[in-house]
Amino acid sequence: MATWTRTLTRPDGQSFRFDPGSFAMELLVSGGPGELRVFEALHRPDDLAAWLVDSRLAATAPFTAADVRVTEAELVAVKRLRDAFWGVARAMVRGADLPAEGLEVLNAATAETPRPVVDPRTRALTWARPITGTQVLGAAARDAVELVAHGGVRACSAADCGLLFVDASRAGNRRWCSMERCGNRHKVRAHRARHETEPAAAQ
Ligand SMILES: [Zn+2]
Repeated sequence: MATWTRTLTRPDGQSFRFDPGSFAMELLVSGGPGELRVFEALHRPDDLAAWLVDSRLAATAPFTAADVRVTEAELVAVKRLRDAFWGVARAMVRGADLPAEGLEVLNAATAETPRPVVDPRTRALTWARPITGTQVLGAAARDAVELVAHGGVRACSAADCGLLFVDASRAGNRRWCSMERCGNRHKVRAHRARHETEPAAAQ
């Protein structure tokens, strides 16, 4: 089974692969409210079209940015949904009450999704063209409301990370956004801590 990863670059310059685990979680990586604005990747409608080509919507069938039609208003709606879901998802991982306003934004956006159709010649599954911004909004919203209902949203165990993901591992024990990033930093810290305590223990 293919895993759909995003390559993220942190403010310290390190790039690493991150599998958010679902489409709505993937959308969270494109930016967000408040301090997450520095990560904003969706400035213009074309940015969303380009971003989608690498998203897990392409797991069903590949498409190009030219197959996507996004208006300014649709881009605003997608970013509003994303930012609302940040608030809901963060409340979920904290075990706090979910923000009612955020849930309203999710619930109001589930109407339309990209339409799967079969190619009559090849029988391959594909998306009806064009894929619209409203359909993208609906795909993210449907995934988000399912996550709210079923749970499974986790935060990376690194205190200074903040990335959220769906744990899709069979064992259900995923701790890190990425082994390359926070998993490795944890190993290095644990190793250092052992070496710092060993000489003390020998005295
Ligand atoms: Zn992390």
